[in-house]
Amino acid sequence: MSVPQDHQPSQGDPIVPPDARAVLRIDLSALRANWERLNAETGTAECAGVIKADAYGLGLEEVARALTQAGCRTFFAATLEEGRRIRHVQPGAAIYVLDGLLPGAEDYYAGFDLRPVLSSLDEVREWSAYCRARHRRLPAALHIDTGINRLGMPPSEVEALSTEPNLLRDFRLALVLSHLACADDPASTKNEAQRLAFDRLRALLPKTKASLANSGGVFLGQKFHYDLVRPGIALYGGRALEGRTNPMRPVVNLSARILQVRDVQPGETVGYGAIWRVDQPARIATLACGYADGFLRALSSPTGKHGAVGYIGDYPVPVVGRVSMDLITVDVTGVPPEIAHRGAWVEVMGERVTVDDLTDMAGTIGYELLSRLSRRVHRVYV
Ligand SMILES: *Cc1c(COP(=O)(O)O)cnc(C)c1O
Repeated sequence: MSVPQDHQPSQGDPIVPPDARAVLRIDLSALRANWERLNAETGTAECAGVIKADAYGLGLEEVARALTQAGCRTFFAATLEEGRRIRHVQPGAAIYVLDGLLPGAEDYYAGFDLRPVLSSLDEVREWSAYCRARHRRLPAALHIDTGINRLGMPPSEVEALSTEPNLLRDFRLALVLSHLACADDPASTKNEAQRLAFDRLRALLPKTKASLANSGGVFLGQKFHYDLVRPGIALYGGRALEGRTNPMRPVVNLSARILQVRDVQPGETVGYGAIWRVDQPARIATLACGYADGFLRALSSPTGKHGAVGYIGDYPVPVVGRVSMDLITVDVTGVPPEIAHRGAWVEVMGERVTVDDLTDMAGTIGYELLSRLSRRVHRVYV
């Protein structure tokens, strides 16, 4: 039975400093393997990397470098600021900003060689005018809406644009993309409807590279791949399709130290709201990790509810009571005291309890849990 050492949340990791109360271990080789897996899945289509929201919480610079090592050359950010951070570490990459063109922000895109993902006729007009005035055919993508009704040019605007071809002359249309609303559900008829709408609208525009698939779309088959795919969640080990076994390797592991161990007696309660009532003598360990660290409060476990399970070595330890801002309480009654002791490490997320296991239990999705992992947690890249 493997028992984690003090100062070492997981075997083979760099030694973590004694002041680290919780450690997020990010496996960059698993990340690279996931990119390679997706790249292999899509044949000749290019596999980009979506690294918005600090690379889904895992660290934008580190993730950008690792994906570049694997062979990734095109990145998608949500915001200009994220785009700038990618540019800083990846001078040669193609970087698209999904927010599109913020009014008056053209210089920022041009100055950092970032490509706006233009989402309306107004944005096209502004980018076109900017490029014309400077005699520079700068690249941009065009986002066309095929039914998600979030960002993107509505079909009527695409049709209008097709009657004004001059608008597309002064900048370089490097990519036409659209985004699927239900790619996580292969049975949804919306996927094929959006694909057909994409083909119809694309045909109205000059011929250029096309992109439709996010992570889920990669697994919907070749006809969804076009020239470039844009996976995010699958890179980070999350589930792309609901109800299927997830072929991706887990990338994150979250461990927290035991701050204190105590014995509790029948009739006592544990934690805020006294929602967990002790019915037989038990031992409770308090871990240095709470919702401010990214462990969801919805994983609280009242009496009678099966809680999320952490591990000390190979011993499972269920969460009891409420998750609070800085702390979680787990039941260590069955664990020998020489293992469940102050300073020992408990794995609360990893290969055995995955991001998807936790978010299924909490009623949310991996995207939310990952992107909200806190910077308070000590990070180790392996
Ligand atoms: C976030 C996003 C993606 C990546 O989606 P995943 O489901 O994480 O793979 C791709 N394209 C667009 C437009 C997005 O906003």
